Amino acid sequence: MKEALVIVDMQRDFMPGGSLPVPDGDKIVPRLNEYVKLFVERGAKVFATKDWHPPNHKSFKEYGGPWPRHCVQGTEGAELHPDLKLPEDAEIVLKATKPDEEAYSAFQGTDFASRLRELGIDRIYVGGVATEYCVKATVLDGLRLGFEVYLLLDAVKGVRAEDAERAVEEMKGAGAKPVTLSQLKG
Ligand SMILES: [Zn+2]
Repeated sequence: MKEALVIVDMQRDFMPGGSLPVPDGDKIVPRLNEYVKLFVERGAKVFATKDWHPPNHKSFKEYGGPWPRHCVQGTEGAELHPDLKLPEDAEIVLKATKPDEEAYSAFQGTDFASRLRELGIDRIYVGGVATEYCVKATVLDGLRLGFEVYLLLDAVKGVRAEDAERAVEEMKGAGAKPVTLSQLKG
């Protein structure tokens, strides 16, 4: 089994102070850094996804979508949290990059699945934000595409606690395996 760590959307706009913040989203940065360290030690590849929208993206309220403007390509809000420590060879997955294309999942409209297969990776460990949106969509797509998917219970954060809990149950029901750092180290 070849594995990879997948860190979802840890961008400034999704952090407190950003335009579409996940409450306490920044609190999981130290834990994600511990996961990065562990997976690098294990020789695993690290991926980080980015919401990467053009300024006229359909998900923005001004264009009829549900969200305030966020993660516009090349802006500070689209940058990853400055304290997130990725290895040099980490790969960035950009999603929802066209005006009329929305994607919560890292697999949607990207070459992520083929890149994983190209590297022989069949097991992914997923953390980041937001639990009930992009994390959930990425986990469910990963399972659907035949990957073994672990959910990093102590390194995800949702917008609303109840929704996040429901999302975790849904992911488990679909076959995702919940795991914590201490379990992985133990
Ligand atoms: Zn977005």
